[in-house]
Amino acid sequence: MSKNEAKKFEFKAETRQLLDILAHSLYSSREIFLRELISNASDALDKLRFESNKNTDYTDKELALEIRIELDEKNKILRIIDTGIGMSFDEIIANIGTIAHSSSAEFIKQLKDNKEEANNIIGKFGVGFYSVFMAADKVTVKSKSFRQEEKPVVWVSEGTDEYELNYLEEKLQRGTTIEIHLKEDAKEFSEKWRVENIIKQHSNFISFPILLDGTKINTTPALWREPKSKITPEQYEEFYKFLSHDNDAPAETLHISVDAPIQYNALLFIPKKSSDFFGFYRDQYGLDLYVRRVLIQHKSKELIPEYLGFVKGVVDSEDIPLNVSRETLQENAVFNKISNNIVTQVLNFLIKKASDDKVKYQEIWKEHGRQFKLGYGDFLNKDKFIQLLRFNSSSQADHEGLVSIDEYITGLKTDQKEIYFAFGNTRDAILSSPQFEIFGKKGIEVLFLLDPMDEFVLSSLGDYKEYKFTQVDQVDLSKIEKMPDVKTDSKKDEISKDDQKHFDSLAQKFKTILGDNVTEVRLSKRLESSPACLVSSENSLSSSMHKFLKLTQKDFAEPKKVFEINPHHPLIKNLLNIFKKDSQDTFIEKSAWQLFETSLLLDGNLNDPHKLYKRVNEMVTEASELYLKFKDQVSS
Ligand code: ADP
Repeated sequence: MSKNEAKKFEFKAETRQLLDILAHSLYSSREIFLRELISNASDALDKLRFESNKNTDYTDKELALEIRIELDEKNKILRIIDTGIGMSFDEIIANIGTIAHSSSAEFIKQLKDNKEEANNIIGKFGVGFYSVFMAADKVTVKSKSFRQEEKPVVWVSEGTDEYELNYLEEKLQRGTTIEIHLKEDAKEFSEKWRVENIIKQHSNFISFPILLDGTKINTTPALWREPKSKITPEQYEEFYKFLSHDNDAPAETLHISVDAPIQYNALLFIPKKSSDFFGFYRDQYGLDLYVRRVLIQHKSKELIPEYLGFVKGVVDSEDIPLNVSRETLQENAVFNKISNNIVTQVLNFLIKKASDDKVKYQEIWKEHGRQFKLGYGDFLNKDKFIQLLRFNSSSQADHEGLVSIDEYITGLKTDQKEIYFAFGNTRDAILSSPQFEIFGKKGIEVLFLLDPMDEFVLSSLGDYKEYKFTQVDQVDLSKIEKMPDVKTDSKKDEISKDDQKHFDSLAQKFKTILGDNVTEVRLSKRLESSPACLVSSENSLSSSMHKFLKLTQKDFAEPKKVFEINPHHPLIKNLLNIFKKDSQDTFIEKSAWQLFETSLLLDGNLNDPHKLYKRVNEMVTEASELYLKFKDQVSS
């Protein structure tokens, strides 16, 4: 390609879609385009400063690092000029000819599908450079790279399908100028008071001077390095909003200054609302790393683990060399100490919050708990992690109630050495499951694991203090059956010695019928109102792990379970009487299969419901015929 002729380029399909949405929709928060462009300018200045710290050679060394805004109200023009790193011909194509976001297609879909959310999405997350087309009908970008040998370039687009890119004949100093021709209905963005307000609101903490028609308008210092006593709550809030693009105040603010053994300052925030937008922004976490007020890395993921990713903020240290490269940061011992210290500080803060203000902590848990649970792999902080977990449980009045593991332990029954939990889709489903009955009867608290994540969390924890986490369908009954009942209304009738023998034979008969589908059939000591249920032996796979393996492994072989029948249930008693009269009666076989498959169904493990469906219909038909006969007899 010859370097001097005018060149037209097509935007990529995704970019075209995004431009179309932005240009043709009326978003009330479109002023944020200014924030996006100023933040790009600030990034470009940060990058230049970073290069100069590394002693890289660059052009126009005498230029001050600053952002200038020029307004031309008459012609509806707004110019944003920075003296940053600039862009070469190829860099412009790579950077602003395409959308960098890894899942931009998904992002565009969300924008399209959630019209009323769009304001929120654009406001909170921004759509970068392209947001300018919410207000512009033409944009010219002139840029000169910091590298001596690169020629200045000019990029022009009307936000339609294509853009033009050329080398610029005139001389240009290092940096980038963005000239915005405002749409008629967006001319307010060339008015001084309006632009000044927007900058004060959204860009006040930019660390480079922002000059509006020659006057510096951002005045706020690096807040995190100021003494705490000098900072007002309003300043903290303002900084948080600047940093997070959140419209709401933060739920918590955490200002840390550590001097020994390492020196660092951090200003951290816990947002009121999770920004885990459909799980889409989960990987957008990280803290901004400064070294002596110079931004070294934006959203550093090495400073904070993903499970604490809901924490937003900045970290600044004197002890990291300014010329450290981003690549070698992780090998820097000081950096690692800082990140470990931050984790400890955040966990301690949350633990204190949970004890000082239970309600507030529960609110934080409800928003960020799901992400927090990813911390089950942080074995170094296992005890703190467990202290912060919350679950619904059988002792809570409703599904909103939450209990900590420590609170659970406080309420243990005499001789209880295990922490019981049950897994289910809803609280009601667990409460009415057969496996729960004996726990209800004994009043033993059971933690309710209603989020699929919970199972992994608890199975990876194993135990806490001297207590073992045990799933209700794996309990060794001898450990709880002697505990006193709290529900006494359900006195069971005695089973005679003679009947006991018959019941044992009936169980044998069930085993013969069900064959290898079960490991054993026995009379239940745990059941109250249900006729039967499936239970695992103590060391076998829990039913939720089972479900998971079944989902992930194609040829997963069903683990066999123990089938328990309740000799006090009228249905089982009737079956016994039928059995005593004729041990070969086919009704017993039908019922055995029916009870077995219903139990599978309840546990979510019935693969094929067709047989069950057919059998139920047959049995209800028979029952209705018998019922009719009976009615006839009564009335005649
Ligand atoms: P983001 O800033 O999220 O990466 P943008 O669409 O805003 O996305 O910008 C894309 C890229 O274009 C930036 O990452 C940067 O490399 C480049 N860029 C944008 N504005 C400037 C600027 N003023 N100076 C230098 N590079 C810029």
